[in-house]
Amino acid sequence: MKPFAYRRPRTATEAVDALAAHPGARFLGGGTNLVDLMKLGVETPHTLVDVSGLPLDTVEELTDGSLRVGATVRNSDLAAHPAVRARYPVLSQALLAGASGQLRNVATTGGNLLQRTRCPYFQDTSQPCNKRTPGSGCAAVEGHNREHAILGHSPRCVATNPSDLAVALCVLDASVELLGPEGERTVAAADFHRLPGDHPERDSHIRPGELITAVVLPARPAGLPSVYRKARDRTSYAFALVSVGAVLDVRDDGVIRYARLAFGGVAHRPWRALHAEDILCGAHATEETFTRALDAELDQARPLRDNAFKVTLARRLATDVLTGLADPGAPLTPWPHTTEQS
Ligand SMILES: Cc1cc2nc3c(=O)[nH]c(=O)nc-3n(C[C@H](O)[C@H](O)[C@H](O)COP(=O)(O)OP(=O)(O)OC[C@H]3O[C@@H](n4cnc5c(N)ncnc54)[C@H](O)[C@@H]3O)c2cc1C
Repeated sequence: MKPFAYRRPRTATEAVDALAAHPGARFLGGGTNLVDLMKLGVETPHTLVDVSGLPLDTVEELTDGSLRVGATVRNSDLAAHPAVRARYPVLSQALLAGASGQLRNVATTGGNLLQRTRCPYFQDTSQPCNKRTPGSGCAAVEGHNREHAILGHSPRCVATNPSDLAVALCVLDASVELLGPEGERTVAAADFHRLPGDHPERDSHIRPGELITAVVLPARPAGLPSVYRKARDRTSYAFALVSVGAVLDVRDDGVIRYARLAFGGVAHRPWRALHAEDILCGAHATEETFTRALDAELDQARPLRDNAFKVTLARRLATDVLTGLADPGAPLTPWPHTTEQS
């Protein structure tokens, strides 16, 4: 690893100023992704601005019923928070499905949202990668691409976004609060990450020098059915091949009043299933409706050589999730228990 300077600001404003004063500097959250990338030579910052000790480590109940999660709240603390478990189970489950207990104790909310892709070609500096070195090419397009995108990819990049948290935030209509050299702004979580297009080096719509200060979850009644399920190669310590986050509210007459559905592991960003949601809302919660909705969404898939299985996996996982949410008494296909992590 190359030598680097280390700064430890006391406030969010000091952190933003410190980053602006040191071109090529990076914010450091828990360091569980950034430090690994520095060891691999993928990231070579001259200065690290450690934001993990900033006073952004609380979960606040706001008067309108929403929940404001500071950017340095640890993944394990957020997953265990009583309001999150009661009102946003999809979020708690998504966090517990990620990484391992030890990593979640260190990883932060802001760092999880901005972790980089796990594409092996991105992590290997001997390989061409447009995300790491714009214009160098993409080794994954014709390479081993079993884990890669099936939706929204471009000839320049077929990498996927690895964050489980980000998928849950999309279906919760959460927003991301940012502080940068030009002041504060808020971006919808569903619009925070981007598709690769011609600029796969940009993972998100964050602007240079901006710090994530918080994530805000809009008010939700306790008990509103929501769920996160993740298919992966091992029962723990593994990224999603495909994951599904969903919120479904079904009236007593069987009509779906409200639906949110998103996939992880299938695209350069969490994939909000807008076509499926359009069909689900106002329809009867039946198998036929779910099939129609998922066909409308997944007909857009363009699998690569090695990953056509992800289309089937996404369809089956989402069908199971929607069936379970519509009828909590229905037997679910057994999936690995995501809370028993090593
Ligand atoms: C073996 C292993 C398995 C894993 N499995 C999963 C998994 O299944 N699911 C999953 O979601 N994750 C998984 N992870 C990833 C892990 O969750 C992330 O490394 C972690 O969430 C990143 O958080 P951090 O605080 O450590 O970020 P850091 O490593 O500190 O930072 C990551 C990036 O975010 C930037 N950053 C950090 N904080 C801020 C901020 N407040 N504002 C602006 N920029 C910021 C940094 O500059 C850096 O670019 C795994 C990691 C490992 C090592």
